[in-house]
Amino acid sequence: MVWIKNVGMLPAYVCDCCGFGYRDAGTAFECEAYCKGHKSCSMELAKKAVYRP
Ligand SMILES: [Zn+2]
Repeated sequence: MVWIKNVGMLPAYVCDCCGFGYRDAGTAFECEAYCKGHKSCSMELAKKAVYRP
């Protein structure tokens, strides 16, 4: 499940699988789908992350 975390003053959408946070919900859901399908993270998506665990 994607959840929302405040990063600085703005919310980020966090992928529950890898813990990376994104500025837009769509990317976070993409990441979650990728993580579940591949059991690892997409480097392309990780580049867009605004929050790293
Ligand atoms: Zn992920």
